[in-house]
Amino acid sequence: MKNFLPVYGPVKSWRYGNSLGIDPIGMVSTCSFNCVYCQLGKIERSSLDRQNFVSTAEIVDLVKQKSTEKFDVITISGSGEPTLAINLGEIIRSVKQITKTPVIVLTNGSLLGLASVQSDLLLADEVSVKLDGITTDRVDRVNRPNFRWNWEQFADSFFHLRHLFRGRMTIQTMLLSRWNHNERQAYINGLNQIRPDRVYLNIPCRPKPKLRLLQGRENLTESKEANWFKPLEMDYLEAFAQEIRDQSGLAVSFVMVHEQ
Ligand code: SF4
Repeated sequence: MKNFLPVYGPVKSWRYGNSLGIDPIGMVSTCSFNCVYCQLGKIERSSLDRQNFVSTAEIVDLVKQKSTEKFDVITISGSGEPTLAINLGEIIRSVKQITKTPVIVLTNGSLLGLASVQSDLLLADEVSVKLDGITTDRVDRVNRPNFRWNWEQFADSFFHLRHLFRGRMTIQTMLLSRWNHNERQAYINGLNQIRPDRVYLNIPCRPKPKLRLLQGRENLTESKEANWFKPLEMDYLEAFAQEIRDQSGLAVSFVMVHEQ
């Protein structure tokens, strides 16, 4: 793939304003999930092992070059699961030495239980964790993890990090179809257990390319070979968001995801 740069944008972010993207994963999309809606296309390398993909020095040089441009946040996500990058902590620490811009990590939470990942994430200002279901069955169908996902392990890891972390911890949930009463109730009970700072209910409004597409890191609006998801109705989303607020008191936003 030509023209790969591990720092890209700034791009408009639906949650954070102008976001400078850092991609610590690199040319080959690498993730522990292979979500049915992934905007990168089919994940090319399935992994749960932390390793060095892109050098910290290269990222720092590029962030320095971008420092004259205007952006509100720096978002670490890119071409897969960013906590797989073993130098994630070093990247955050180095970037913070050159800018005061808040650093946000978007993660699927697979490695949240590792002490090394937790200590890296503690350096960020916000950690936004994907939670697309409470049951192993739903996560298997939507996220297609390369390991046996289970709620108890996820909740323990989230809760542990939340107690150590001084920044914001948010949950992002992609809704592809209506959930029945029991699923919604189990989800709300789960949120009451882990108590995130905010819940984002996301609706996919961007294409899922059939093959790996580097532009998927940014705000992809079209792709020749892509699948599209039919968005859920607004009244259903509003009712679900209100149900969560009423039973948990948590802040909830729902977002049509066109952008990062
Ligand atoms: S959406 Fe995120 S977590 Fe899911 S496969 Fe793509 S990069 Fe991985």
